[in-house]
Amino acid sequence: MAVIGSGFGGLAIAIRLQSQGYDVTLFEKNAQPGGHAAQLKLKGYTFDMGPSLITAPAIIGDVFHAAGRRMEDYLTLEALDPFYRIFYRDGSVMDYSGDAGAMQAQMHDFHPADAANYERFMQAARGIYDAVISDGLGAKPFLSWRTMISFLPRALKLNALLPAYTFVKRFFRDARNRFAFSFHPLFIGGNPFRSPAVYLMIPYLERSGGVWFSKGGMYSLVQAFVQLLRDCGGSIRCNAEVNEILVNNGRAVGVRVGDESFEFDAVVSNADVTHTYQQLLPEQFRRHWTNNRLDKTKYSMSAFLIYLGVRRQYPRLLHHSLILSHRYKELVRDIFDNKILADDFSMYLHVPTRTDAGMAPAGCESMYVLIPVPNLAADIDWDVTGPLFAAKVLAFLEQDFGLEGLQENLDVMETYTPRDFARDRNSYLGSPWGIEPSFLQTAYFRPHNRSEDIERLYFVGAGTHPGAGVPGVLLSAEASEKLVMRELHQESSARSIVSD
Ligand SMILES: Cc1cc2nc3c(=O)[nH]c(=O)nc-3n(C[C@H](O)[C@H](O)[C@H](O)COP(=O)(O)OP(=O)(O)OC[C@H]3O[C@@H](n4cnc5c(N)ncnc54)[C@H](O)[C@@H]3O)c2cc1C
Repeated sequence: MAVIGSGFGGLAIAIRLQSQGYDVTLFEKNAQPGGHAAQLKLKGYTFDMGPSLITAPAIIGDVFHAAGRRMEDYLTLEALDPFYRIFYRDGSVMDYSGDAGAMQAQMHDFHPADAANYERFMQAARGIYDAVISDGLGAKPFLSWRTMISFLPRALKLNALLPAYTFVKRFFRDARNRFAFSFHPLFIGGNPFRSPAVYLMIPYLERSGGVWFSKGGMYSLVQAFVQLLRDCGGSIRCNAEVNEILVNNGRAVGVRVGDESFEFDAVVSNADVTHTYQQLLPEQFRRHWTNNRLDKTKYSMSAFLIYLGVRRQYPRLLHHSLILSHRYKELVRDIFDNKILADDFSMYLHVPTRTDAGMAPAGCESMYVLIPVPNLAADIDWDVTGPLFAAKVLAFLEQDFGLEGLQENLDVMETYTPRDFARDRNSYLGSPWGIEPSFLQTAYFRPHNRSEDIERLYFVGAGTHPGAGVPGVLLSAEASEKLVMRELHQESSARSIVSD
């Protein structure tokens, strides 16, 4: 069995299938495994380059469990409280957490009626969570209309198909409260004004399961999965970019890496779905995902990142902080639809040194700034714009936001642009989140966990069902594992009946 790509989805399916008795080889383009969860180490500072926020530890635990191991033997997780701090443009602040009383007190300051609706909102979000997580829809491959149609009555009853923001607006009046409970689709590359409210299971998932940090950063989860895969007997080949998926008689039969071809019973791609279809499979094999259809598909935003090692600390910033612009809907529209780099920006800051002093030299701060920006369909030359934009963001943080002495205390500064996502990780249009999770690109409408055209070709990761985010891609691995097991097992049983 070949797995292409060592993102969390690729690592998880490799572990699951190896544990089921398949002999798995994982091919990774880069020197380091982990995909977007790569790690950058410079001058004593350690940065997680991408994901930073761990939710749903139970879903992570399921991967260890599938391999007959215990997560605690590989990872040390620490709960964060509050989950994050939101700095609004008017100077007000919210410490967002799972503590109902603390949340209601803050929401009350913004609008008393909103505080009273907090529990009502959470119960509504719980209904969605129950459908997607507890009842297993997230880990169920949506291959047919039947699965989709059977979910529709429940989805309609839960209002889960409304745009997320519209759903939230029904509960809260103050713009700040509306933001705090509606922005979560952005975590997974969704536009809160058109992603279905099904993604509002995230606030409930955070409240019920907490927000966690793994000692050593998110990369320690990559290392734990790599170790687990090796412990189960699987192998990883880094610096091995797959250039072609070999197809014979409509069936995936192997992969080509440079000049070498390798035969396999089945292939699972964790590489970006559009990259897989466009670059690894000739169009003659694709009736469903033609180049034309892939061109018409809507892709998510990208991100501009600045990794900063600073010779001082800023305790005002929590482990996770959001610093918001005065604009919400309009800014999101500029990023997703108008595809322009607006004058204003909202940002997420990751400051792991707040929790783990080992991520930087003593007394120093390791931090990254993430700004959602348009993907590469925008007319932006990041070679020119990148340095100017970074300078503007640093000036904002120091002068407007008040991080005193930020620029004169910089030990390390690196940027990462949409162009880098495309070049380093084969993310189509430089979008690490891939296919946008709008209603018409969710569940059955998303690329399936199994190719519609090529037998024994499966998908895991952000571009397939259920979607992006660490919990999402881990669930995709569970969904794809079910398909592989069902289909390969059925075939081998049929073969053994014939040979009997
Ligand atoms: C900046 C940022 C912050 C984020 N924050 C969070 C967060 O806090 N919490 C959260 O849950 N999620 C977060 N996410 C989303 C989350 O990181 C991703 O959805 C998830 O990690 C994607 O995993 P994946 O399985 O799709 O694989 P990917 O990470 O996309 O990895 C795919 C792998 O395939 C490899 N590859 C591509 N083409 C080939 C080829 N031809 N041959 C061999 N290998 C190939 C790539 O090099 C890469 O290693 C964030 C994402 C980003 C970018």
